[in-house]
Amino acid sequence: MTSPLLPIYARADLSFEKGEGAWLFGRDGERYLDFGAGIAVNALGHAHPHLVKALTEQAGKLWHTSNLYQIPEGERLAQRLVDHSFADVVFFSNSGAEANEAAIKMARKYQASNGKPNRFRIITFEGAFHGRTLATLAAGGQAKYLEGFGPKAEGFDQVPFGDIPALEAAIGPDTAALMIEPIQGEGGIRPVPSAFLHELRSLCDEHDLLLIFDEIQTGIGRTGKLFAYESTGVAPDILTSAKGIGGGFPMGACLATSNAAKGMTLGSHGTTFGGNPLAMAVGNAVLDVVLAPGFLEKVEHLGLLLKQRLASLIDRHPKVIAEIRGQGLMMGIKTRVPNTELVKAALAEKIVVIGAGDNVVRLLPPLIVSDSDIAEAIQRLDAACTVLEAGLKDEDRRGAAL
Ligand SMILES: *Cc1c(COP(=O)(O)O)cnc(C)c1O
Repeated sequence: MTSPLLPIYARADLSFEKGEGAWLFGRDGERYLDFGAGIAVNALGHAHPHLVKALTEQAGKLWHTSNLYQIPEGERLAQRLVDHSFADVVFFSNSGAEANEAAIKMARKYQASNGKPNRFRIITFEGAFHGRTLATLAAGGQAKYLEGFGPKAEGFDQVPFGDIPALEAAIGPDTAALMIEPIQGEGGIRPVPSAFLHELRSLCDEHDLLLIFDEIQTGIGRTGKLFAYESTGVAPDILTSAKGIGGGFPMGACLATSNAAKGMTLGSHGTTFGGNPLAMAVGNAVLDVVLAPGFLEKVEHLGLLLKQRLASLIDRHPKVIAEIRGQGLMMGIKTRVPNTELVKAALAEKIVVIGAGDNVVRLLPPLIVSDSDIAEAIQRLDAACTVLEAGLKDEDRRGAAL
């Protein structure tokens, strides 16, 4: 079948017609349990009544005005993010990569406004993913994504994950900032130890570098806190958010202290779509739910439940599952078989999960998932593992016959 779409994705032969909460309804007539949430985007599941209401009401009033005018919904959303974080100011973008671009520009401008324009280099960590624009690709540093796109954007130095001596050696006279995901998402749900983040904070303070947390995947309640940094005891200077922040509406945000943002003066940055009234209405509606009393505590509780039940799967399927890791509703299953096989077997059991680096399968259910959805997910994953194990036994038998 030829498609008019650019053939850059390995799409499953499956499409969905509608969704409801943690469930997706396929055009094949089947019902799927959604433990991918559009790659951590549908934070409140599908067709959440409060989001549908906010979107449709705003759609009937005003979609877009440009940033040439006041946007009260945006002022309100920014104030709420500020009130619930380390930050003093917010810039709204349309995507995660654009939020990171803003963070990178902000860090460089901070140094320039301190009279050190030579300080433009950003240190990042192996296994990172920061987006697909030219600068964020260079920040992620993954050869497979960079190849063929010309010279890598200048100004990014990558060091091994968790390696303090390598990091200290990489900090030079031209370094502006360090940029890290508190839990690597695409890299395979790899949590960064809090002790390492504390080291980053003190190195930044010592050398007057800015600390940037990419919380595009970890933020907006995913780990059981509004932002993952809250459980580490380390606050960044700049933080980026996207994915869950719009509950499925495309938007992102770059949060910063006023000190870190001091170079971002009139005319220094901008966007056409970012922060438009439609996006801001939905963003506020997402926060209405996520910040409601008890909601994040519930996510934390569900996360523990999910982790415990997943741990029992290791005991039952030691040939398929090697390790469970993650926090809140951001869990990774490191597999002993190719992770793509577990993703496929899970889909055959009508549960949607997502592959990641380091041979990991990601579980990113919507934050409104129920205890019984989690029980159902474990049953389906158990069945998928059983199918994979039967396949491994067949291979053993074939191997023995040779
Ligand atoms: C998804 C993601 C990005 C990129 O976001 P886009 O909206 O695809 O541009 C950047 N950083 C992290 C940690 C992500 O998970």
